[in-house]
Amino acid sequence: MKQQRAEVTDMRRLRSPYLNVSTLLGVGGSGRCRDRSRNRRSRVNARETRVASKLAIAYDSILITDFDGTVTRNDFYALVVPRFLEDGLPDYWGRYFAGEITHFEAMRSIFSHIRTDEETLRAVIGEMEPEPELAACVEALRRAGWDVEIVSAGCRWYIDPILEAAGVNVRVHACPGRFDPERGLVMELPEDSPYASRETGIEKAAVVRDALGRYRRVAFAGDGLPDLEAALLVEPGLRFARGWLAKELGRRGEGFRRFGRWAEVARALAGEGPQSEDSDRAK
Ligand SMILES: [Mg+2]
Repeated sequence: MKQQRAEVTDMRRLRSPYLNVSTLLGVGGSGRCRDRSRNRRSRVNARETRVASKLAIAYDSILITDFDGTVTRNDFYALVVPRFLEDGLPDYWGRYFAGEITHFEAMRSIFSHIRTDEETLRAVIGEMEPEPELAACVEALRRAGWDVEIVSAGCRWYIDPILEAAGVNVRVHACPGRFDPERGLVMELPEDSPYASRETGIEKAAVVRDALGRYRRVAFAGDGLPDLEAALLVEPGLRFARGWLAKELGRRGEGFRRFGRWAEVARALAGEGPQSEDSDRAK
């Protein structure tokens, strides 16, 4: 079922109106700015893009990494759903697996049913357990010539505070969002991103394809279904996986390197830890 759904997802991605030449080149986007906040985000993203272009010159390699369950031990979704959702919700994942709604629509719909106060929900962020050595790892990677970017089907509402608390400044590709006590976590499509996707919010594979054209080496780390297509684009020695993604890559006979925590990925790439000895190759 999951494989079938992944294939359906792949087909939909190929038909995504956002996945065009402009997207692959990392330029363009909708350009629609509906309010001041979006204008501000556009300016921030434009600045990030300029910074990224400069960094592409400084770094010849890049690690593109998923966030929930990869940089963090725990998924925001898994922590929130059992505690704060309204009762009697439609079966959004059933509708997703039936091909009736996209992954983004399922996530956005479920998050919209969160009912608690903002302070309580923010406390959940503290339970996600980000990699404790995150800042040191990013620094070590950069010293070794590796830039780092985060790609997530989740929401910047919880990603940004975690990075800020860790003192980490990396480019993030994820959906913007805000909390409203009556509307839950309101997650929006990142319409001003060149990697926007109606299927998953951010088209992780498009981020990787773009990077493959600009960097000498591109590594990817992830753990879930939305990571599969992006992971398959990089060479096996630079493909890091755990959880569902590791199982699926193994089932497909695809090579990858298994990791337990994000620091292992960083150490392997930065050359500060064991590499091939730690690697798990799909049998
Ligand atoms: Mg994940």
